[in-house]
Amino acid sequence: MYDILIIGAGPAGSNLARLLAGDKSNQYKVGLVDKRRLDKPVDPLRQKACGGLLSPDAQKMLAKLDLNIPSGILENPQIFKVRTIDFDNSLERYYQRYYYNMDREKFDRYLFSLIPIEVEKHLGEVVSAIHINDNHWEIHMNQGKTILKAKFLVAADGANSFVRRTVLGEYAGPEKYISIQKWYPTSSTTPYYSGIFDSEITDYYSWTIQKGNRLILGTALPLSGPRAVTPKERLAKFDLLREKTADYLGISLETEVKTEGAFIERSTSVRQLRFASRLGLSTGKKLSLALLGEAAGATSPTSAEGFSYALDTSLKLYESLTHGLESAELRYELSCDSIRRNIFLKNLKSPAMYSKNIRKLVMKSGIGSLKDLNKRGQVQIGT
Ligand SMILES: Cc1cc2nc3c(=O)[nH]c(=O)nc-3n(C[C@H](O)[C@H](O)[C@H](O)COP(=O)(O)OP(=O)(O)OC[C@H]3O[C@@H](n4cnc5c(N)ncnc54)[C@H](O)[C@@H]3O)c2cc1C
Repeated sequence: MYDILIIGAGPAGSNLARLLAGDKSNQYKVGLVDKRRLDKPVDPLRQKACGGLLSPDAQKMLAKLDLNIPSGILENPQIFKVRTIDFDNSLERYYQRYYYNMDREKFDRYLFSLIPIEVEKHLGEVVSAIHINDNHWEIHMNQGKTILKAKFLVAADGANSFVRRTVLGEYAGPEKYISIQKWYPTSSTTPYYSGIFDSEITDYYSWTIQKGNRLILGTALPLSGPRAVTPKERLAKFDLLREKTADYLGISLETEVKTEGAFIERSTSVRQLRFASRLGLSTGKKLSLALLGEAAGATSPTSAEGFSYALDTSLKLYESLTHGLESAELRYELSCDSIRRNIFLKNLKSPAMYSKNIRKLVMKSGIGSLKDLNKRGQVQIGT
């Protein structure tokens, strides 16, 4: 029986496992489950679709955690500005940004490699059922071929979390998006990444990011609400984005070398976040669950940035667990108030990016943009 069983070895789950096992004053027996074989060569079918940009907030979390990033994880080129393209208002601006451009899979594998051997790892195992059994969780993997038991369960299984859906059931959670990324060959160096706003495509945003001799074109399309897209519409929307972007940037986006997809969740209200739960209070079972990173709904609702939240929630849960298993989920829940505030403030800022008219005013004003570059910076598209 594990004291703590973590489902998901993305940045959130791996970092929690590393912290727990690295602290010799904690005597917890820790297990970690992931459907990916992070100890074997990369399986493209299990790779997470991602932009791989390490934001200033994520860099701050790495500093807090005393973590470095080996240069082998970085991707060419390193980019210092974003080209914001507003197809709705026919405007564009450049803004300075301090991101690191990374290979996402290598980043995950690096964090995973830091986990001490004391953590028992169950890789290539898909969690398929969860049962509450007396005073412990029973986790079934690969249709019950493996069963693990645990006192304290951690959901770090990302967007559309299976653990969250199974244990908490239906509730008004974060808004769901499907992201599609296609990779195209490129022989030139693009000195920016682009954020593309176009209400014809999505009410969120689209992007281009260069990774070596490839250029990613990606978008996040709504799966819920009045603008929800059907599977057929997804491809049509992506094609429209591809044509418009190729035409606007003057590049060829014809021969894709890779297509990938992933869910993205967007918490447009802090009520959609779930950090912890305690089950069976009435029966005295007191089974605890904590949710980390994207499984908690913790990503930036304006940019979909998620590494900083994955690392922050894992640090907060680790700190809560250092005082014992008893009520750790309540301490964790309280410590996540700062994340609630952060997401609340990001949602207040959201109309400046996502309301067509307010964005027009902001972009026209030039506030925060690289004005000296912007003799071209406020270009009327099509003129
Ligand atoms: C297209 C796209 C682009 C993005 N770009 C960026 C970016 O540039 N910068 C940024 O900061 N954030 C970005 N994000 C968000 C970022 O990827 C997430 O916020 C981050 O990965 C969350 O980390 P996590 O550990 O919570 O979950 P994840 O990284 O999603 O990890 C979840 C883990 O759980 C495992 N798992 C899932 N289900 C099961 C199961 N049933 N059984 C066993 N294992 C399971 C998965 O294999 C995975 O390893 C992007 C997201 C998307 C979709």
